[in-house]
Amino acid sequence: MARSLAEIIMFENRKIKKVQLVATLLIILSLAAVLIIKNTSNKALTNTSSCDISCKDKILDDILNDDINTSNIMTSKEILIGKIDFSNETLVLIPLQYANRESIYMNKEAFEAFLEMYNAAAEVGVSLKILSGFRSFEHQKTIWENKWNGRVKLTGNISATDISNKQKRALEILKFSAMPGTSRHHWGTDIDLNSLNNSYFESGEGRKVYDWLLQNAGIYGFCRPYNVKGKDRLAGYEEEKWHWSYMPVAKKYLSDYIEIITYEDIKGFDGHETAETVQVIEKYVMSINPECKYK
Ligand SMILES: [Zn+2]
Repeated sequence: MARSLAEIIMFENRKIKKVQLVATLLIILSLAAVLIIKNTSNKALTNTSSCDISCKDKILDDILNDDINTSNIMTSKEILIGKIDFSNETLVLIPLQYANRESIYMNKEAFEAFLEMYNAAAEVGVSLKILSGFRSFEHQKTIWENKWNGRVKLTGNISATDISNKQKRALEILKFSAMPGTSRHHWGTDIDLNSLNNSYFESGEGRKVYDWLLQNAGIYGFCRPYNVKGKDRLAGYEEEKWHWSYMPVAKKYLSDYIEIITYEDIKGFDGHETAETVQVIEKYVMSINPECKYK
């Protein structure tokens, strides 16, 4: 039986709608695939040796601005460059039982997380001791200038004043000491634990502590920003097995630092004029263990 014209038109319309629906679905699926591939390749990129410093910094920047809940983290330019003192409301005094001396302060949230980590470690016979926490700009200035002016010798019994080229002098000090205004210790989120010698952590009691931290610190939000220099971390400080950072807060501070601190802010100490030539922000502040970026 022949169909009426109206029936044929209706049938054809339905066919067109079906085709449109399938086409729309295909477009949505393709877009989703592109997004997934883009995301995966960004993350994979951090582990490739072909990624140079600027490429890693770009990724660091993306990640830091991406996935953190920053709503209740107090921040300011003064906190970022250490121009605060112990009375700042972000800091708390560490009770002596957790430290090797009096008057060590830490960021409040970082200390709360440390307490949980401390107790978990103690349960399995691992004893954690804080040697250093918050350090102000003024404190870092004393450390830096003592080295810069030869009052305190550098690693290897070198006197910095024997190095007449200022840029080279700064680079030698920067192997282990930060310039004022550029230390993660300014934030109160970073602590030095148990010993300031890498060799301590290579055998005996030190090794036990280090192995426990490597396995468990991440659970409490702590990460070691100065891992061994090499393919994963191309520039910056030498390895520091004792330095641990509470990343949930430190990530916010690092991302703010990258955004608002310039070389204009890094001054007021002997040798400050070398800050830009040695690229202390790009090669030291920003050069951290890539694993820490995901903590
Ligand atoms: Zn440290």
